[in-house]
Amino acid sequence: MNEDELRYIKGVGPVKASSLKRIGVKSVRELLFFFPRWHIHKSRITPISPIESGGKYFIKGRITELEELRKPGRNILKVLIEDESGAPLTWIWYNRPYMKPVLVSGRRVIIWDTVENTRWGKQITASNDSFEFIEEFEDKAITQGEILSFYKTTKILTNVFFREVMARLIKMNLADIHEILPSGLTSKRDLCIIKEAILKIHFPKTLQELEKARRRLVFNELLILQLFLAKRKRYFGKKVKNRNYNLDSSVVEKIISKTGFTLTKAQVRVLGDIKKDLLKQAPMNRLLQGDVGSGKTIVALLSLIPVLENGYQAAVMAPTEILAEQHYATFKKIFALAGYSKLILLLTSKLTAKARREALAAISEGRVALVIGTHALLQEDVAFKNLGFVIIDERHKFGVFQRLALEAKGVFPDALMMTATPFPRALVLTLYGDTDLSVIDEMPPGRQPIYTKWQSEKKRQEVYGFISQRLKEGEQVYIVYPLVEESSKSILKAAEQEAEQLQKIVFKDYKVGLIHGRLSSEEKETVMDDFKEKKIDILVSTTVIEVGIDVSNATIMLIEHAERFGLAQLHQLRGRVGRGAARSYCYLMTGWLMNSDSFKRMKIMEQVNDGFKIAEADLDIRGPGELFGANQHGELDLKLINLEKDRELLEIAREEAHNIIEQDPDFLRPENIKLGAFFKERFSKDLEMITIS
Ligand code: ADP
Ligand code: MG
Repeated sequence: MNEDELRYIKGVGPVKASSLKRIGVKSVRELLFFFPRWHIHKSRITPISPIESGGKYFIKGRITELEELRKPGRNILKVLIEDESGAPLTWIWYNRPYMKPVLVSGRRVIIWDTVENTRWGKQITASNDSFEFIEEFEDKAITQGEILSFYKTTKILTNVFFREVMARLIKMNLADIHEILPSGLTSKRDLCIIKEAILKIHFPKTLQELEKARRRLVFNELLILQLFLAKRKRYFGKKVKNRNYNLDSSVVEKIISKTGFTLTKAQVRVLGDIKKDLLKQAPMNRLLQGDVGSGKTIVALLSLIPVLENGYQAAVMAPTEILAEQHYATFKKIFALAGYSKLILLLTSKLTAKARREALAAISEGRVALVIGTHALLQEDVAFKNLGFVIIDERHKFGVFQRLALEAKGVFPDALMMTATPFPRALVLTLYGDTDLSVIDEMPPGRQPIYTKWQSEKKRQEVYGFISQRLKEGEQVYIVYPLVEESSKSILKAAEQEAEQLQKIVFKDYKVGLIHGRLSSEEKETVMDDFKEKKIDILVSTTVIEVGIDVSNATIMLIEHAERFGLAQLHQLRGRVGRGAARSYCYLMTGWLMNSDSFKRMKIMEQVNDGFKIAEADLDIRGPGELFGANQHGELDLKLINLEKDRELLEIAREEAHNIIEQDPDFLRPENIKLGAFFKERFSKDLEMITIS
């Protein structure tokens, strides 16, 4: 690919070319595949007057009034919008005074956002990404029934620029766009050819044309993904793991009785799923999904007992040392309680050379039954005697290669992956089509929702007062900071200084501890142990405690600068409390420097406790593009996919992918050659892993 090809295109030039590069567009091909974020047609626009609150709508109107409300440390811009229906709508901007000069009367705007009913009437809380100012000619074009494309723009890369350059590139005959689908397939499934799809996604004349283009582009993505999955399945599916299990449940039952838990129905069901998988000839490949605190760890522990009982080794991999250590301690404790004598070993990068050598010998000779560790497990010299089962906790923190690398240490070991990330089922099927899914959809008995309150600086003393009360009752507290050290420019309080202050002034009678990423592993471990043993009452922490930590006596969390965290992270953090039967509390402390998205996040945290609903809300705020964009293949463009609408297309893609891989697994037939080349380019690394393991 010619690095410079873009800048020589008429209308682009060096400045825009480098702007494009910054948003990830480096070639003509990539530019053509930079699709509009909105297609506006008049039928998609809702008049303001009949709108009921609650839904998300496209609104097209003009600014009629701007009012600025100032309070100490706070700025509100109240913008009135009117459309042809004559009804007003308030568009409200929090703490973005710099928007004032552009929110001028008469300006035309399209907004795509949620309408609420408030004391000001119909209202939209503004978000950075949910509006477009439009010009008169655009307004006119829409009114006349044209479909207009709107792109993700910057100051330099405007909609007009994108439309012009796309038109030019398409006139240049789309030389860089090659059809990869066999022609038999496009005609059989009524899909348009790729050049047509590119033309129509940028310049649709009708909504039907647009839908056809979108379908084709979505199909491309889905097919490539399904080909990958089909290929992997073909490879793994043929594998016979050659392990025989004698499943005697007495040990499992004994352990359960010693934990004192009554397993939830969901936990029992998941254990049943896993048991069935163990008996199958093909290796298990199962994703266990359960909200924060739903009790995945005990399921993990119980699921690998039969493995150990039958003489195979098992490995548990966790993303942080703290978490690996915690699992190690939990497993050891429960094994001891039940008088279960199989050897467990902790393998992290902090072992001394000598200890590590001995550990590796014990693992490779099979003296150790269960190894718990971090990424350190993946190192080349870690070899097992007969690894039969791997568990990956917090699966979303690992990449696909890491997973395969761990599996490669056994002969097709059964694999259980655990995550609290609530991907919708349809997305799991899409992204991990060859994976089975188990869901823990129920919390252990006695849990109450975590009372969550968003507080401003003014209320700090009140919050501290409340914390003192709980401390008096013998409960424990987390205080979370986004950063460790105060940088000169940052207004963020340093956790270190803060811990000191809290100890000296606010909570003199209690012990304040501090944990953060810069501590050595030993130091972290000591702090965590002290907290567990209640030698520390208040643990000041950075986000190192984000995943997995389990101290059920901790009932309050105070999150400082909560606006710095995303919803998923806030939910994970909050999940550190509410792990026992006692009522738990989470305070979100923010300054006034908030934008509307953080405002929405705080509101959602106050109202919603369920991880699935939080994820949905997250999707809504951020838009699906961003969330799906972060998937492990990095390159998959799922922005256009609508999982509900595209179910049928997904099925078709799966069917075709399996046909192709069955009949022509190496893409040797002439009609499949182009598809094969494209496929290999996309997945070169993953494919390597498949053939190595
Ligand atoms: P996560 O799913 O987030 O990994 P954990 O496995 O850490 O959650 O479990 C959260 C807490 O719930 C732990 O303290 C655990 O001991 C407890 N727990 C798990 N299962 C049960 C149960 N069936 N009854 C009571 N408590 C349980
Ligand atoms: Mg966990």
